[in-house]
Amino acid sequence: MTMYIDTHAHLTFPEFEIDRPEVIERAKAARVEAIVNIALDDDSIKKSLQLSKDYPDFIFTGAGLHPHEASEWNDSTYQKFTALAKEHKLIAIGETGLDYHYKLSPVDQQKKVFRAFLEMAQELDLPAVIHSREAARDTINIIREENKGKLKGVLHCFAGDPELQKAALELGLHISFTNNITYPKADIIRTAAKEIPLDRIMIETDCPFLSPQAFRGQRNEPAYVIKVAEKIAEVKGLTVEAVAFATTENAKRLFGL
Ligand SMILES: [Zn+2]
Ligand SMILES: [Zn+2]
Repeated sequence: MTMYIDTHAHLTFPEFEIDRPEVIERAKAARVEAIVNIALDDDSIKKSLQLSKDYPDFIFTGAGLHPHEASEWNDSTYQKFTALAKEHKLIAIGETGLDYHYKLSPVDQQKKVFRAFLEMAQELDLPAVIHSREAARDTINIIREENKGKLKGVLHCFAGDPELQKAALELGLHISFTNNITYPKADIIRTAAKEIPLDRIMIETDCPFLSPQAFRGQRNEPAYVIKVAEKIAEVKGLTVEAVAFATTENAKRLFGL
């Protein structure tokens, strides 16, 4: 049976407070086989670990500090995430990276924290979930500098930057697409999806953000990850089943599911 993995969701965000169980059931009904839930602060980590307990082998937790919140890094942060990972509670480190669109945390602080998380991910032998927005050049340089030959991970919510795409593929990273691939103006993202080899592609919703074109403006949810697979299949001239199968295998391999 065709199954999908949503490799990046934020189910602990307030948008899901009223109907989270229904959202999760709809994902299962839509043949989503697993969800990688990304937690970004103490409260969401706590809630996400509870979800992983309540839905074993279905909801998995990755945790990090979003570049927006890089300023929150303090002396105990490295220890906090490392301890959680060593208890086998995390399957990924992140999201971490650089976001120069809003610059909600100072750029120097974003870089420092990004480097620390890349080091941590390698020390723990966990994949890094990397967020890069309007920061392609610095993202590439930092990944190259911090890679000790053990770095594995995914460039999530890929926006189609050709330079970043080339570097990520050279570095052995995976590239993950969201539903913004369905937007009319997103030719650059569809071009990337066409070019990137299928064995490096994963799919995600990044919900509650980035609903597919058909539901634009509404809350996104994991069940809609199928729309990402459909669009990739269309641009690659493949069946949805082939894209679902490959992206699911890629996610299982990378996250050790
Ligand atoms: Zn992100
Ligand atoms: Zn995210």
